Amino acid sequence: MNPPFCRMAVIGLGLLGGSVALAARACVPGIMTSGFDSDPAVRARAREIGLADHIAETALEAVAGADLVVLCVPVGAMLAAGQAIASGLAAGVVVTDVGSSKAAVARALAEALPGVCVIPSHPVAGTEQSGPDAAFATLLRGRWCIVTPPADADAEKLARLISFWEALGARCETMDAEHHDRVLAITSHLPHLIAYTIVGTASDLEAVTQSEVIKYSAGGFRDFTRIAASDPTMWRDVFLSNREAVLEMLQRFTEDLTELQKAIRKGDGDALFDTFTRTRAVRRSIIEMGQDDARPDFGRSDHGDAGAITIAGTAIPPRP
Ligand code: NAP
Repeated sequence: MNPPFCRMAVIGLGLLGGSVALAARACVPGIMTSGFDSDPAVRARAREIGLADHIAETALEAVAGADLVVLCVPVGAMLAAGQAIASGLAAGVVVTDVGSSKAAVARALAEALPGVCVIPSHPVAGTEQSGPDAAFATLLRGRWCIVTPPADADAEKLARLISFWEALGARCETMDAEHHDRVLAITSHLPHLIAYTIVGTASDLEAVTQSEVIKYSAGGFRDFTRIAASDPTMWRDVFLSNREAVLEMLQRFTEDLTELQKAIRKGDGDALFDTFTRTRAVRRSIIEMGQDDARPDFGRSDHGDAGAITIAGTAIPPRP
């Protein structure tokens, strides 16, 4: 089978851009890859670690002759990134992106690239790290990639884009951009907002010291800190660009939180038990769909400093 694309340009060489470039080099036979990042230090590092066949000094140089361009910059930088490549695109090129919100990105790219085939995408894959050193070739493997084609998207180009993401190991689903934004508002954007809030609140508490927060973090807080360590630029842009859907989900969340607050105040154990039973079933479904690790504590092996702990003189081995 012919590879879906022959020359790919990646704009933005951080976690997502670097990973897409590495994965394409590993998984798409014969593809030539070029990359550009606005930060000269990132370009230098990308060259050192070989993220792409060629690291260009300008965005126009990177996209010259490309039949696929993947914009991997923060959502708020998509318009500028689109404008910077507009005059250098080859005829027939497909432009996509990896932004975490889709309706605002679609509008920005339609404005920057009139008449160009733009088919936005969102690989639902990432980590709390950023920059070229965080990139790895298997980031997309087994993950969903949501593609949000405009109504008049060219069917053949859409099919090639989907086979490109599938070649990198992702499973694709298509939906409209507004629906994507509502789904991701609840599954990704709101959880990040909650994590940022909890970690912020804990660090502001005066009655509990900073060292106690860190020392006893394994009680649940630690998992929020991982999410709350995510890139501030990226997440600022996500909330500003998906404002309406996030505010709608936040309203629903606030109402549900108030219900739990009432149940605790009234001593209504049944209400709490029912909610917690329902949420446990959600976790089971995520494991069954292969979207997370079924092992206790996400398979972490770092229980305590060296794994074992000593209670009353007896060494207790770590959990398997
Ligand atoms: P990242 O590691 O910070 O990389 C983004 C890179 O793009 C940075 O080096 C940045 O440089 C550069 N950049 C900014 N504006 C540019 C421009 N106009 N032209 C060229 N380069 C530019 O960020 P990331 O985590 O890869 O995120 C990139 C995109 O992927 C975002 O839209 C995000 O919503 C989406 N996404 C992220 C995740 C995740 O978990 N991280 C998951 C799915 C999708 P400066 O730092 O100098 O600005």
